[in-house]
Formats: sequence, structure tokens, C-alpha cells
Amino acid sequence: MTDSFHRYDVIVIGGGHAGTEAALASARAGARTLLLTHNIETVGAMSCNPAIGGIGKGHLVREIDALGGVMAKAADAAGIQWRRLNASKGPAVRATRCQADRGLYRAFIRRAVEAQPNLTLFQSAVDDLVIESDGRGRDRVRGALTNTGLRFEAPSVVLTAGTFLAGKIHVGQTQYAAGRMGDPPATTLAAKLRERPFVVDRLKTGTPPRIDGRTLDYSVMEEQPGDDPRPVFSFMGTRADHPRQASCWITHTSERTHDIIRGALDRSPLYSGQIEGVGPRYCPSIEDKVVRFAEKASHQIFVEPEGLDVTEIYPNGISTSLPFDVQLALVRSIRGFENAHITRAGYAIEYDYFDPRGLQASLETKSVAGLFFAGQVNGTTGYEEAAAQGLVAGLNAARLAQERAAWSPRRDQAYIGVLIDDLITQGTIEPYRMFTSRAEYRLQLREDNADLRLTGIGRELGLVDDARWAAFARKRDAVAAETQRLGALWASPNNAIGRDAVATLGIELSRESSGLDLLRRPELDYAKLTSVPAFAPAAEDPAVAEQVEIEAKYSGYLERQREEIARAQRNEGKAIPAGFDYAQVRGLSAEVRQKFERVRPQTVGQAGRIPGVTPAAISLLLVHLERAR
Ligand code: FAD
Repeated sequence: MTDSFHRYDVIVIGGGHAGTEAALASARAGARTLLLTHNIETVGAMSCNPAIGGIGKGHLVREIDALGGVMAKAADAAGIQWRRLNASKGPAVRATRCQADRGLYRAFIRRAVEAQPNLTLFQSAVDDLVIESDGRGRDRVRGALTNTGLRFEAPSVVLTAGTFLAGKIHVGQTQYAAGRMGDPPATTLAAKLRERPFVVDRLKTGTPPRIDGRTLDYSVMEEQPGDDPRPVFSFMGTRADHPRQASCWITHTSERTHDIIRGALDRSPLYSGQIEGVGPRYCPSIEDKVVRFAEKASHQIFVEPEGLDVTEIYPNGISTSLPFDVQLALVRSIRGFENAHITRAGYAIEYDYFDPRGLQASLETKSVAGLFFAGQVNGTTGYEEAAAQGLVAGLNAARLAQERAAWSPRRDQAYIGVLIDDLITQGTIEPYRMFTSRAEYRLQLREDNADLRLTGIGRELGLVDDARWAAFARKRDAVAAETQRLGALWASPNNAIGRDAVATLGIELSRESSGLDLLRRPELDYAKLTSVPAFAPAAEDPAVAEQVEIEAKYSGYLERQREEIARAQRNEGKAIPAGFDYAQVRGLSAEVRQKFERVRPQTVGQAGRIPGVTPAAISLLLVHLERAR
């Protein structure tokens, strides 16, 4: 059974957002990769709302792109309404979001998977993993078994089963096993995994009913066209990649909607105790919102098209698992929805996830060598969070098979690093989603500089192809050249450049200032400065201008943050040996020792971020590690 059909370097289970990004990264890194998934037609399917990005999430998408991933390109090919969020705020929190055409998005991902050298697809349900003892007290994965009895072998396996593990759908009091509406659950695999030493718990998420857009009255809603100019997701993309554009609309729930919901709470699986899993705090169901924010008379609903050539719309804001008759009544109580026809019922789904503290930073499980977990199975929610983990897990699965060291970004390098470190250090008891507030170095971790932070590393890791590398190198060099050029142009009260600047910009100039000094002035930006003929660049490039401007304007803060990072780095990089015996650290309280043993941090930096671990405990640990050297 070890012929080339059955044997690979890496097997990825699941063709969702984590799985496709994992399989593509593994194959790009040079590993012979097999993507095993329930149904080839659903590769790249969006289970919930067809939108990519948003605050924190957009940052992840740009980082995935900077590492050669597919998500940003797929969003560019499918984005039908684009917005730049927080555009008037500081550069750290500006974020891109697009409404996507569900069909175009899926088709793009499928094409990317099919076009990727080293990557093979096979449609099948995986029912079990092949796990053997490695003879040294640790289990090791050897492959996967399908429900039809096929055995595929590989030294690395990435599990990305999403919401499918023991998935259970709830619509009112009705409940049944499913992976998501219309897809089978992974019940056997979930049961087999529960026999292993993983810490398993339940989470839940929900989705709104879908509605036939032809039955809505848009005349009473507020139109929300996309931004002009439109942002672009991929560093390799342009606006020409975008399809035809469409508007979203805004409407609101009414007092009557809330009355209908309140009157039906006794039939809600959420409130009757039927659902045990914890739901996403930042994406609550409408029944949750009505109960938790009882004082609010109305909630906003974004009416979002599901695609260009379909009539269904996604009413963002009314996720619900109430019984269908209540769904219909509440939908029809919304302004403009009085005659709405529901095409699919809203529902909640409960599923198994694994405590992510059982993972290393590479996303390899601590208890089974060669087995990686990524995506919703690690307790996260969202396509972007899943894809980010998938890329890291797929890369490291390939590197393990190639006997290379694992790589995972640090917290100061990427939101992907923040995401993984949060998960493996703190675990999560509710669906985890990314926010800019989770990153302590967010001025450094901007959407606009994701390529400057990561593409060089991605190139070394074999993730970045020649075309991206050449485009990146051009931009990087142009930014350096433009920074140098503006730094070398001096305006003084009595030279021609200075007189020109004063006349064109109407500024005061009392002492000699370089172009970069002037750019730091709050009343000036790159466009204004370069309107002075002496400062005009030979060629305009908005991406270059953006970098030069942000680096100049925030240079003081950025410098301070870099110093902070360098200081933190000293402990961050100090490795704690695997299997380290914390009982030997003198003076450590039993409580802290147990926390260390639970998380088993890989570095002193990670140890310091475990909730409840004091700086004093870290000092004791450091003293012990120093002595032991
Ligand atoms: P998925 O996209 O679920 O992909 C899993 C893949 O694995 C599927 O292709 C499946 O067929 C395959 N698979 C599973 N088990 C097996 C097996 N045994 N053998 C072979 N293949 C297998 N996110 C938000 O951010 N906000 C929301 O409000 C939100 N609401 C949601 C509501 C619902 C009802 C659902 C289902 C999801 C919702 N999500 C939401 C979550 C979002 O869909 C996920 O975060 C994202 O899809 C996770 O990606 P993933 O790759 O981990 O898993």
C-alpha cells in the first residue's frame, strides 16, 4: 500500500479555509501533498457570510498574501463591494473588507488548488488517523483512513475539519447531526479523536436565514455603495481583478421584531439549555442581542448580496436558531422585509474543538508527533483566522516531512503570530476572533506593510514565487530610494527649495528641514509635499508614497516600539527545554507550576504571557535556566 497514490509527504484533511491554505503552503514548500476532503465541490466554500476581511481580519489576509497564500487573490477575484474601514483613523487600525460573490470565491480557490504543482485532491471522508507509538513514549501519526477503507500514508497530517467534528445543527427544538447545513458531519472521526489524549470541548456558532432579494423593498433601506477608490487585497492585485460591483443596504429591526423574539425565548435552543457550546461573543445571535441589550429598541442589519448572479441575500445581524415559524415572523417585522421569502433557515451548530494549549507554535500537537491542527478545530472563528493557521500548519507539516526546523511568526512580526501565541498560551473557552486590540505592537503590524514584514521570510521558506518576489523587491527598493531622496532634499528659509515650499504650501519655515522633516508636520502629507516641484518624485507610486509617509509621520513611535520589541526579545528567545521539570524551580508556587505544566511554554516569553504568571515567577524560572546551562 505504499505506492505513489497512497503515500505522500503531507496529508491535509478538510478543504475549507484552513485546509486549502495548508495544502497550498505545503505544496509550495516542496512537499508532495494530498488534500482529502468530503466533497470537491465545496472546496473553498464559505459556511457563513460571504465577506473577507474587517478590522484585524484584514490584517491576517494581507499577511497570508505576503507569505504567498491564496485568500487575498481569491477575495480580489470575488469582491463585489469594497470598504476601507477606519480610513480616518491611524494606520494601525485601517482595514480592508469586501463583500464577496460566494460562487466566484469558491471557484477561484478550487482553480488555485487544481493548478498547484505537488498538490493532489481526493474526495473522501476521513474516519480515523493512523497513529503508532514511536517507541520513545510519544505517539506519531502515520496517515489517515477513509470511510471506504482506503489508507493514505504520510509523516505529517494536518487536520482542518472546521465545524464538522460531531457537528450538531439546531433550528428551534429540532436538532440533527451535520457538518453545516447541507453537509455531513464527521462523527466517526470525532469519536476516534475523543479516544486520544486531546482535551475536547464544545463550541457553537450560528448563521441567519437567507432571503430572496426580489421579495425585499429596497426603497425604504439605506444604500451602502462601496468606497471609491476601491481598496485591493493582494499585494499582487489591482482593481482590474475585481468583478462588477454591487451595493449593500442597511435596515433595522423594530420593537415588534424584539417582541416576537422575547415571546419565543422558551422555544430557543440557546435559552432552553439544549445548546451547551459557547457562541462567538462578537457575532451574537439576534436573540442574544435582544436579551443582552434589552434597552436597545433596534439593531442594524446589513443586507448583503450573496453574489452577482444569484438572488439570495445575507441579512447580516440576525443570526438565529429560533424555530422556523419565529424566524419567518421576525424577518417580516423588519423594515423593507415585510414580504420577504426565506430561502434557507437560520441555524446554530455545535461542534468539537481541541484546547489549543495542546499545540506547539508550529501547530503540531504536543501529544502526537507529525499531527497538526488548524482552523475552527482550534477554537477560532472566521475564514481569515482559519486560513492563517492553515498556512502555518501546512508549511510546518512540509518542513517536518523534510526534516527542517519549524517556523512560526513572533507576536511582533505578524497578527498570525499574535493569533497562534494567544491560542497556545491562553487557550480559549469561546470562539476566538482577531482584533487589532489583541496586538501589543500594532503600529508595527499594519495592513500596509505586511509584505515588508513577511515576504522576505516567505521567500526563504519557499512560499513566495519569483513574480511576487520581483514585485516585492521593486517596491522595497523604491521605498528605500524615496526615503533617501526626501531625506537628502533640504529646504531652508533662504534656499530655492525652501522658498518654493513656502510659496506652494503656505507653511512657515524658520530653520533648515529635510523633505522627511516636513513630511512629519501634521499639516502636510506626501501628496502635498510632492506638489512642490523640488520634492516631486520622478514616478508616482501610491504604495511607495504610503510607506514613506507612514514611516516618516510615525517614526518616533515606531522607533520606541522597536526598542520595546528588542527588550522583550531577550526573554522571548530563551528556550525552555521540552519536558522541562518545573518541580525543580525553587520558590515556584504550586499554582504557577501547574499553569506551566498545563501550557508547557516553549520560551520564557511565552511563559510570561500565561494568565496568572507573575514577573516574580518568571525571574525564578530565568535563574533556574541560567544555572542549568
Ligand atoms: P471549514 O470551513 O468548516 O472547512 C472544513 C472542511 O473540512 C470542509 O471542507 C469539510 O467538508 C471538511 N471535513 C471535515 N471533516 C472531514 C472529514 N472527516 N473528512 C474529510 N473532510 C472533512 N465565522 C465567523 O467569523 N463569523 C460567523 O458569524 C460565523 N458563523 C458561522 C455559522 C455557521 C453556521 C458556520 C457553519 C460557520 C460559521 N463561521 C463564522 C465560521 C466559519 O465558517 C469558519 O470559521 C471557517 O469556515 C473555518 O474554516 P475551517 O477551514 O477551519 O473549516
